[in-house]
Amino acid sequence: MRLLLIEDDTQLREQLQEGLLNNGFVVDSAADAQTGLYFGREFDYDAAIIDLGLPEMDGIELIQRLRSEERVFPVLVLTARGDWHEKVKALNAGADDYVVKPYQLEEVVARINALVRRAAGLAKSALRFGPLHVDFSAKRLTLSGKPIELTAYEYKLIEYLIIHAGKVVSKAELTEHLYAQDHDRDSNVLEVFVRRLRQKLDPEETLNPIETVRGQGYRFELKVDS
Ligand code: CA
Repeated sequence: MRLLLIEDDTQLREQLQEGLLNNGFVVDSAADAQTGLYFGREFDYDAAIIDLGLPEMDGIELIQRLRSEERVFPVLVLTARGDWHEKVKALNAGADDYVVKPYQLEEVVARINALVRRAAGLAKSALRFGPLHVDFSAKRLTLSGKPIELTAYEYKLIEYLIIHAGKVVSKAELTEHLYAQDHDRDSNVLEVFVRRLRQKLDPEETLNPIETVRGQGYRFELKVDS
């Protein structure tokens, strides 16, 4: 998942960016609202993390600008302890949730994951598709109760497809949301990953969890158990 991080404090920004990278996110970061606004207009993000206290344009104005331009990705704000006015203003401006500084990385990651799932209409942190079970918080999939060994990249790929289940996800979208900018973006590499993922998720070839939509991309096709 690709995140936009806007925080003017260099140390906090670098720490948070590194922590998010270690948790499998792709992160574009900016030190000021103007740069953040530019990124938010140009690229498609799964969520943004915005510090409220930014120089020149503050976080609340940035959120208002993004929302007025129909940028609807979930926004988590970083705010100072006890500053309830700021939290209310941020939520009213279109933010979805907040964490109070000093925060724990685990809390930021859990909130971002929950916001992204909820934005996709998924309130639960685990889903069952027949014999296939996914636990988003543990980042684990099982097939008929047996754990499926996935690399970090394979997990990111299947997580993205499941969150967008039923929709065609293009190769370009997958590349944009799963790879850091300097990464190898060859679409043949993606095809190899999808093939490997299919073998792991569906070794008997009875489920067909990932459908190829010719000329368009991939679609996760399994129906969630009610
Ligand atoms: Ca700040």
